[in-house]
Amino acid sequence: MKALVKATAAAGFVLEDVPVPAIREDEVLIKVRRAGVCGTDVHIYEWDAWAQGRVKPPIVVGHEFAGEVVQVGRLVTDVHEGDRVTAEGHIVDGRCLLCRTGNSHVCPHTKIIGVDRDGCFAEYIAMPATNVWHLDDNISFDIGGIHDPMGNAFHTALTAEIPGATVLVTGCGPIGIFAVGICKAAGASRIIASDVNETRLALAKQMGAHDVVHPNEAEAVVKRHTDGLGVDVVLEMSGVPSAIHQAFALVRVGGRVQMLGIPSKKVDIDLATEIIFKGLTVYGVVGRRMYDTWLMMTRFLRSGQFDPSPVITHRFPLEGADEAIRAIKSGEAGKVIFEIA
Ligand code: NAD
Ligand code: ZN
Repeated sequence: MKALVKATAAAGFVLEDVPVPAIREDEVLIKVRRAGVCGTDVHIYEWDAWAQGRVKPPIVVGHEFAGEVVQVGRLVTDVHEGDRVTAEGHIVDGRCLLCRTGNSHVCPHTKIIGVDRDGCFAEYIAMPATNVWHLDDNISFDIGGIHDPMGNAFHTALTAEIPGATVLVTGCGPIGIFAVGICKAAGASRIIASDVNETRLALAKQMGAHDVVHPNEAEAVVKRHTDGLGVDVVLEMSGVPSAIHQAFALVRVGGRVQMLGIPSKKVDIDLATEIIFKGLTVYGVVGRRMYDTWLMMTRFLRSGQFDPSPVITHRFPLEGADEAIRAIKSGEAGKVIFEIA
């Protein structure tokens, strides 16, 4: 089969012919139809310090996808040939204390497809049946293929109290833009979204933000719409230090900051003034909760109140990997996907 492979410890991906993966008894083989490209793939492509420390070439890359089940292992009873599915890309052990207490999203033994084992930028992928998530008939493979980053946004938004809330979303990358649409559907009373990029602010507006602002305008707009108090909830979706400080500054006293964005290095926080004396609750987001985030995502899509399709702006075949990575780096894209079959 065709697959995009991190072939050696160097920059780039190589389109190679590799064997179709063999499945274990508890796994299924999925024919990949769509796959989302994300910042993590850019790190692996560029072979930065994080990628060098984590990824062991050769490996098939990619972790966001949807497709059709074409083979099921002997022990699999609830997934069938022909099922239209996506999957949770974090493969957890299911046995540790965290998994057994409902916290698999932070299982210390997690293996991520496309990072720690072969991924989905390929014609086929093997997945444990327990990670498979069925798609409703009316959910396209396009939307199925972006459930992973959409799930990050659902996890971030729905672990805060959004109904009626005033919300600031700092960072309108694909995940921030999804979060805007989710907050809208969940009944936020005011959604202010900030970014430095006009294209992305326009997408945030399209997804339902009441106000889209540059970071230097955010304070004035937040104050205006919150009687000077600050927003109830900030979803920090940039990972940029100045936006993180702004999150703590513009949330109200007693408010909540949901931290999804991953800074590239240490950030100096004045804990006393930025967090403690404001009585804040800070929540670190890791992946998606298994599987309550997935259930809520399905229900929001089913209700029709949340439509993520405007976020997909670019499509490429696997042969266009270099262009796909360039599109992401340009900042001109929302979500970039591969059309595989
Ligand atoms: P992205 O890089 O496309 O989006 C970040 C956005 O922040 C960009 O649009 C950028 O223009 C904007 N930005 C830059 N400076 C800003 C500022 N001062 N104020 C406001 N916005 C600013 O990334 P994404 O794919 O949407 O992911 C968002 C973040 O979440 C990234 O840091 C990513 O690494 C992280 N992430 C975390 C998890 C997790 O499980 N915690 C999972 C996936 C991604
Ligand atoms: Zn575990």
